[in-house]
Amino acid sequence: MRPVVRADIATSEPYGAPIAAVPAKLNVNENPYPPSPAVVQMMAQAVADVLRGANRYPDREAGRLRAALAEYATAVAQTQITPDQVWAANGSNEVMQHLFAAFGGPGRSALSFGPSYSMYPEYARESFTTYRTIPRRSDFTLDLPEALRAISQQQPSIVLVASPNNPTGNAATASELRSLTAAVEDIGGLLIVDEAYGEFLGDQTPSAMCLVNDSPNVAVTRTLSKAFGLAGLRLGYCVASAEIVDGLRIVRLPYHLSAVTQAVAVVAVESADKLLSQVASLREQRKVLERWAGSVGLQQTDSQANFVYLGRFADRAQVWQQCLDAGVLVRQSGPDGWLRVSVGTPAENDRFMTVMSQIVSRGDVLNEG
Ligand code: PMP
Repeated sequence: MRPVVRADIATSEPYGAPIAAVPAKLNVNENPYPPSPAVVQMMAQAVADVLRGANRYPDREAGRLRAALAEYATAVAQTQITPDQVWAANGSNEVMQHLFAAFGGPGRSALSFGPSYSMYPEYARESFTTYRTIPRRSDFTLDLPEALRAISQQQPSIVLVASPNNPTGNAATASELRSLTAAVEDIGGLLIVDEAYGEFLGDQTPSAMCLVNDSPNVAVTRTLSKAFGLAGLRLGYCVASAEIVDGLRIVRLPYHLSAVTQAVAVVAVESADKLLSQVASLREQRKVLERWAGSVGLQQTDSQANFVYLGRFADRAQVWQQCLDAGVLVRQSGPDGWLRVSVGTPAENDRFMTVMSQIVSRGDVLNEG
């Protein structure tokens, strides 16, 4: 007899975007710019140093890294964040898995606002947490009255909001986040603000990290995969109260962060200025894409991330294929009719705009409804 996979996952597919070697890879919201040779050199040196002690297990508490992240978070949040308020893991995916394992679980539920990041139901599934969503408005902003009603009715253990949201790019406002915080405080829940794209937020929208010292019910997750340009490193982190972090320390596997990851991530965080130097130009490039999208009659959202969300296509799968045939890989994500396009280098963006302008000019491609 063969082993039988769990019934609830037997028909599931592994998560992942289609992969293709193309001139313009604009499908997974990476930073198109690799780290500079000088930063790579420092990382390589740090790796060589820790490998000399690689017969030993790494620092289980990732002390140096959490101290470096706390310093960075303090600057972003404009409020003192201490190392015991920081948690780090292999990508914010793993941070989120820890949050669900510690604060979700059987008999508990999580509430999010769709369309949103497609991994959320999977974190819930793996922690046996009931997952519910309520829809965003037609412009994909939060429907706050509905959100507050659902929180008081469903009493979720976790309320999860991505800001900027993936795939739509919309950011939650400071006052929406304050209202959600008050609502979870009332029911003893945890508000997780997923700021994977937080460094791209407009200057008017503060990071939710500034809430964590005022509320023991808020956790903010971030990553080095996007603005820092280190998707290949796999390092995400979370800023919250020390009590929340203590919960995460219970559910992590021992030595979950390798010595190599910790060493490289310390250099990355200490080199934040250099690694984040392209953020301003990526924001500018997003505006170029937005102006172009308006000029060819595409609908778009108010994105504060390193991607745009464009529609509405009568047949998005066909448009996706036409882009791919022309060497541009974009993403079919969220509601039908919409495509998500990461901001690439100017050359990649030009290629996308040229291809898409041609597709749209053929007519019958857009759905006006
Ligand atoms: N949250 C959101 C909203 C994302 O879009 C992503 C990556 N696409 C993640 C979390 C996870 O990123 P990582 O695990 O690379 O930190």
